[in-house]
Amino acid sequence: MRIAIARFSHETCTFSPEPTTYEKLESRAARGEAVLEDSRGVPSYINGYMRVLQKEEAEIVPVLSVGMVPGPYTSWWPQKCFDRYADELAGGLAEIPRLDGVLLALHGAMAVRGVPRPEAEIVRRVKRAAGGVPVMVTLDLHANEDHELTDAADGVFVIKTYPHVDSQETGEIATRCLIDTIAGRFEPTMSLRRPGIASASIFQASDYHPMKTLYDRCRCWEQESDVYCVSVAPGYAYADVVDMGMSVIAVTDGDRSLAEEVAEDVSQLACSIREDFHRPLPGPEDGVAEVLQLVEDGQTPVVIADGADRTGDSTHILQQLLRQGAENFALPGLADPKAAKKLRQEASVGDTVSIKAGGWASEYSGEPVLLTGEVKYMGCPRFRLVGPMRRGAEVQDGFVVRLDLGANRQVVISERMRGSNDSAGLTSVGIDVDSLDIIVLKDRVHHRAYWDDVAAVDFPVDAPGLGPADLTTLQYENIPPDLYPVGENYRENN
Ligand SMILES: [Zn+2]
Repeated sequence: MRIAIARFSHETCTFSPEPTTYEKLESRAARGEAVLEDSRGVPSYINGYMRVLQKEEAEIVPVLSVGMVPGPYTSWWPQKCFDRYADELAGGLAEIPRLDGVLLALHGAMAVRGVPRPEAEIVRRVKRAAGGVPVMVTLDLHANEDHELTDAADGVFVIKTYPHVDSQETGEIATRCLIDTIAGRFEPTMSLRRPGIASASIFQASDYHPMKTLYDRCRCWEQESDVYCVSVAPGYAYADVVDMGMSVIAVTDGDRSLAEEVAEDVSQLACSIREDFHRPLPGPEDGVAEVLQLVEDGQTPVVIADGADRTGDSTHILQQLLRQGAENFALPGLADPKAAKKLRQEASVGDTVSIKAGGWASEYSGEPVLLTGEVKYMGCPRFRLVGPMRRGAEVQDGFVVRLDLGANRQVVISERMRGSNDSAGLTSVGIDVDSLDIIVLKDRVHHRAYWDDVAAVDFPVDAPGLGPADLTTLQYENIPPDLYPVGENYRENN
């Protein structure tokens, strides 16, 4: 059995000022065996494909991996760029003799100028190039999809966890389905429903209501014989696209009416709880005041989730921490390439420096903040992730400088956006995690896979940014008019 593998995935933040370019994509693209190298032994979709295929002694033909970009979230793909990679993928597949099937790791939130539903278009081109063999697709749950994708693919499987800790398992589910389909033991039959709900990522954590309520129902349906997999993708609200919003996908073994019944049931349940996907969060000033109260009450450490910052340079929360006298805190990434470069040229470890940093990338970023402190670390740290997400994967950071502002206030100025979904981003620059009362992360939910076990409180704050919790503050132009609560009809009628 000969199976082709490709990854073509991007989460496009169409509100970002950073363009998606061929050069950025190419810097992280891989071909042939290199497609597998990144994923081998690391929990990922492709490792999931490999595990099952190797057990089946299938021949694996890796073709292309594209979609990662360095730095902040990037905006619309130019169509030329999309076509270039889609044609390369199709061309690569067309050259493989006696192909039996294709596994595609897509994302679901790619946005391309001139291609309204890029994932469906990828699958159509792949299907044609591969001579009509079965094509199975895995998706992130931040996927905006409609029936065009389920019409084009033979099976669509969405991860079930946010933080995303089941990409490998989802890869295995898709691969088993592919193998059984090729062998004639299984007839994947899909139904898709769109309940018409948009929600902010920060309210989509899978272990908590309302997503848990939906996922519990899905797992219940999966107990029924002939129901193979039931997925809910709550969607990605920071892509202004025609199919933005939640989708429900049921895959059964040859039973169309059962697939329809399952998808309809889960979709109706979602409609009945749609208001629970939205709640007000405190802004930076009130949020930091509440966090300081928690610290005073001994509930430490507190993780502040600055979910809206997609450029990594927002200063709203840092300003408040400084203004309100917070101590023992760490901000593991304040993106500012100019400030990082200046420090690289002019400062050394041990120097005391004053520098303005942050607050430059967009109108939402806040004012630059003047930081005075001792340089404790300079360099490009290389480390391995230690949390449940991609545990063991190696990270090569850009240039970073850690400043100690006194009173154990640690700020890392970084050349590019830098997260810390587990402790490795902090320890790699010499921060003692146990000494911290407050950790500020520019993230929404992923960090919780690690930090929920460490932090006393996870505290989301809705600071200004390109990815706000309150979606009604975004100016959409392309989304479906009946999408709750941001569609044009909804806004007019309420
Ligand atoms: Zn995601």
